[in-house]
Amino acid sequence: MNEPEHKMGIKGSDTRQIFFNDVKVPVENLLSERGNGFKIAVNILNIGRIKLGIAAIGGSKEVLNNAIRYSNERKQFKTAISQFGAIKHKLAEMALKIYASETASYRAGQNIDDLIEDFKGQGMEDGQAKLKALEQFAIECAIMKVHGSEVLDYVVDEGVQVYGGMGYSADAPMDRSYRDARINRIFEGTNEINRMLVVDMMLKRAMKGELDLMGPAMAVAKEIMSIPDFGSDEEEGLFIAEKKVLKNLKKAALMVSGAAVQKFMMTLSNEQEILMNVADMAIEVYVAESVLLRVEKLIGIKGEEAVALQKQMALVYLHEAVEKVNNAGRAAITSFAEGDELRGMLMGLKRFTKIDPMNLKDARRQIADAMIAENKYIF
Ligand SMILES: Cc1cc2nc3c(=O)[nH]c(=O)nc-3n(C[C@H](O)[C@H](O)[C@H](O)COP(=O)(O)OP(=O)(O)OC[C@H]3O[C@@H](n4cnc5c(N)ncnc54)[C@H](O)[C@@H]3O)c2cc1C
Repeated sequence: MNEPEHKMGIKGSDTRQIFFNDVKVPVENLLSERGNGFKIAVNILNIGRIKLGIAAIGGSKEVLNNAIRYSNERKQFKTAISQFGAIKHKLAEMALKIYASETASYRAGQNIDDLIEDFKGQGMEDGQAKLKALEQFAIECAIMKVHGSEVLDYVVDEGVQVYGGMGYSADAPMDRSYRDARINRIFEGTNEINRMLVVDMMLKRAMKGELDLMGPAMAVAKEIMSIPDFGSDEEEGLFIAEKKVLKNLKKAALMVSGAAVQKFMMTLSNEQEILMNVADMAIEVYVAESVLLRVEKLIGIKGEEAVALQKQMALVYLHEAVEKVNNAGRAAITSFAEGDELRGMLMGLKRFTKIDPMNLKDARRQIADAMIAENKYIF
């Protein structure tokens, strides 16, 4: 065994190299049948990934709580810095990213639990049921690992900024948070590897016939050649417009991934930049949809007034997701399409990333003001 490594953060957790030479493992200690180890190890990664995402959200809440408290205490120009719009913007952004990531993790976690129970109901043994359920939600686990760790990094970075010069001091809490957070984008598979996994697993499922990607992708390709559907104003219900936006974001992701698959076929894995773009689109669609569904459910339970701020968070998140999907889509399309095809796809992307404007500044202020008044993260 080597000496502990000197690390940037998580110093409470020892990291050292250990070596196994000619180790004999008693047969009764085998976790499963011989030769099954790799499968178990890979599935452990799935559970590790969703748990990492959730742990990152827990850490993010702690950091945001510190930032809110500090911004209420720290005065500049005879005013608590929490009263400045630039700080409110930061606090609201931290909160809504946390809320969105936590929501998507709840969704994936519940789906996994439900499937485990389903499998067990069909007579499957507990361990096997867990393994199978996690395998089916491996894409969501990778999504939550990437999203949660990047929300945490965003939150600690802005946390340092809210603390100003004190944020850079090793005597204040942000120093440790900033250093501890950084590992999360690296372990349990780096975020680059997880992004590639998201796309790779989707394509493999499509090839196995478990997921129909090319059908909808071709329908979208046909749609961009036709006259836009402006929809009817007659539909009633909650989030009608937002659900249409989400549907279009999915079309944007399908359009880009379908065209990339057609263009590169078996060599797509060499186009990692495009894989990253497609993964970003998938991640944003999943998270934005999750948060909208959660708020819709909450409105049904508690009424719109009781969850007005959560609604604002869902709407602001959706606007941000639209922008990210547009940016990622544009980066992908411009890297492989040319001429008429490029123009057509850019037009399609524009059509699929349309959203009615709203006053995002006011929405963020409402979210921040509520937390500032309570001196903590309240969602
Ligand atoms: C503190 C700490 C604790 C850890 N704990 C554990 C543990 O408990 N169990 C465990 O099994 N492991 C553990 N690890 C290992 C960790 O999972 C790896 O460090 C991590 O998966 C990255 O692998 P690597 O360090 O070999 O980086 P590399 O693979 O060398 O990656 C370097 C860079 O290259 C990129 N890269 C690598 N391959 C590709 C590719 N094919 N395409 C594109 N980009 C690529 C990466 O994304 C990264 O940006 C721990 C690591 C640390 C630092």
